[in-house]
Amino acid sequence: MVATTATALLAFAVVALALPQQHAFDADLANSPPSYIQETGGIDRYDGHEVWRINWSSLSNTSRSALHNVLETAGDVWKATPEVIDVHLPPRVAAVLPSLIPKDAQATKIVPDLQALVNLSLAHPVPGLPGAYAPQSPLADPPTDFPDGGWNVSTLDTVFHDAFQPLPAIDRFLDALVNEYPETLHTFEFGQSAEGRPLRAFSAHRADGKADAPEVLIISGQHAREWVGPASAIYFLHALLVNLRENPKGTAAKVLREFTVTVVPTLNPDGLVYSREHSRMWRKNRQDVGGLICKGVDLNTNWGYEYKPSRLACSESYSGQHPFEAPETAAMANYIVNGAKDAPRNRMPRAFIDLHSYGQLFMFPYSFSCNVFPPDAENLMEAGMGVAKAIRLIGGPGYQTGQACQSTLRFSGDASDYAYAVGQIRWSYSAELRDTGTYGFMLPPFLIRPTGIDVVAGLSALALFIYDTEIEP
Ligand SMILES: [Zn+2]
Repeated sequence: MVATTATALLAFAVVALALPQQHAFDADLANSPPSYIQETGGIDRYDGHEVWRINWSSLSNTSRSALHNVLETAGDVWKATPEVIDVHLPPRVAAVLPSLIPKDAQATKIVPDLQALVNLSLAHPVPGLPGAYAPQSPLADPPTDFPDGGWNVSTLDTVFHDAFQPLPAIDRFLDALVNEYPETLHTFEFGQSAEGRPLRAFSAHRADGKADAPEVLIISGQHAREWVGPASAIYFLHALLVNLRENPKGTAAKVLREFTVTVVPTLNPDGLVYSREHSRMWRKNRQDVGGLICKGVDLNTNWGYEYKPSRLACSESYSGQHPFEAPETAAMANYIVNGAKDAPRNRMPRAFIDLHSYGQLFMFPYSFSCNVFPPDAENLMEAGMGVAKAIRLIGGPGYQTGQACQSTLRFSGDASDYAYAVGQIRWSYSAELRDTGTYGFMLPPFLIRPTGIDVVAGLSALALFIYDTEIEP
């Protein structure tokens, strides 16, 4: 831990030297993890915390990188693209932000009080009062359809999709889905999280569908605070099942005839629980990484392709010391390559989609570098544009398609890079779901369904594109 702190200070000193025109801010900000990752024993609050968007498009790559390091040390970087960087700052850092950024970068406050958005993300609809939402303790369960605590899984109108649900409720809902659609859906476990929770997958395929149908694998929840990922992955799975039953000749029926759709809604269950019960901004898993204060590996930098070890255990993008150090990524990769314990793989999945938020992006490999172009780039681009078009055609918002390295920060050890390069999954993507920054990670519950509908339209279009180009051209 001493070494980690010394390294953090050193990194900070280097950054400060690289930006001589800015005055250095309070050194103890660099000496300890920011408050949002301190364990308080209670529930972290974000009163007066702000989120700022800094337009840095006129800065050189070197200045951008230096500024990124400053903001990551002083706050919590939410998103970075070639145009802008969004950063969450505690009040005392927000107060000195203008002194931290170069003159030719413009900063705009996009969230004035983060706690208000945290409260909103936890709210649930008031039964009998359409459009009304009630505040809720993170430790309370949102309403259910039936007095016994169950949901009406035969319809998409269930109130389950009206609120962000705690993990036990998610598990109960998914079990109810398996009960309701036993011929089409089955569940299996492919490993355990760092804290011993089961890692669960849900596979859907029509009993009268094509034998040995190619698999479309969708994972979500690698980053704990991105709650809309699991929520919309579950909505997608539910919609496929309901639509298959209601319209035997529709799109869902075709998708589930030609493909096996496997959904892993919560690859980071420990992080999801922690982000609800303790720290809404939590991103990593919850494994012990040897530090005194900081825990957790950032799952989406821990995959074993172009992996780079990290030095700073407190960093939000701490990738660990070796690839697949996190049991969650190790188990997921093992499933991708070897299949399930009782169903060993005889061929690789045909498509892989890793759901994140936010930014409205549908990105293909590679993430780690723009110097390596995937051989399938044009096809991946064409299919990605089809996904964006399908979402727009049903009245959804604009999604951008492109290579991941050009759309966001470059990250090594990325899941979709691994799926493409090692898993040899031709149709590999990572998606950033809604929104573009108004709410960021704190998407309010009334946007769960619209985002779920985006995913249904987009991923159905992707499956049909693969069918049309590769299976029945
Ligand atoms: Zn993410």
